[in-house]
Amino acid sequence: MIYRLTKSKFIRGLQCEKALYLDVYKPQLAYYPPETLERFRKGRDFEAKVKSLFPNAVDVSRQLGRQIGKYPELTATLLAQSGEVNLYEAGFVHNEVLVLADVVHKDADGNIAVYEIKNSLSVKDVFRRDVNIQHYVISHCIEKLSSFSIIYNDGNDEPLYEELLDDAREAEPLIAKQVERMKEVLQGMEPSAEPGEQCSAPYECPYLRYCNGKVATQLELAEF
Ligand code: SF4
Repeated sequence: MIYRLTKSKFIRGLQCEKALYLDVYKPQLAYYPPETLERFRKGRDFEAKVKSLFPNAVDVSRQLGRQIGKYPELTATLLAQSGEVNLYEAGFVHNEVLVLADVVHKDADGNIAVYEIKNSLSVKDVFRRDVNIQHYVISHCIEKLSSFSIIYNDGNDEPLYEELLDDAREAEPLIAKQVERMKEVLQGMEPSAEPGEQCSAPYECPYLRYCNGKVATQLELAEF
């Protein structure tokens, strides 16, 4: 399966087009401080706890590992099975955008519910954008999408749910435009952007050291 954008790159691109470009062409320049890595680890712990609420699931990432491009095909095969199906890290691709859904549940009637898990005490705007890009892709891949929820943390590591399917449907025209814009960015030269407010919201950008001139580019290193 051919894809040029992923969910995380799309979210990065909404924050800053230069960051999107770097994510695709110079990811080796990213720097994540220890506290960010610790936050990722806690997020994975909460995610694992929530996933255990969906038993007998096939974990597509365990089946295929780094062969991300093969996730959509295996996902489609598994969802074509009769009866209930639970999947972790199910892959979908549409219009060269690949997304992996934390949990997909198909009931015996073929209705499909998708769940995005966030270790957060509230549903932030960036999580809604996360669901919107996933919905943009997944709704083109399956017919009976009946629910799309965020699962977040009540403060005691127990899950709370918020249904976002209607909002995601409404956002689809905007998402389609944003996807096309990001593809244009990736066909061009590295965008110029000076560090500013966009570097810390909604996430700390991992390229701040590079943009502040503290990291030599590959090209500069090659000249030594
Ligand atoms: S550090 Fe700031 S300017 Fe540089 S890529 Fe990241 S968001 Fe863009």
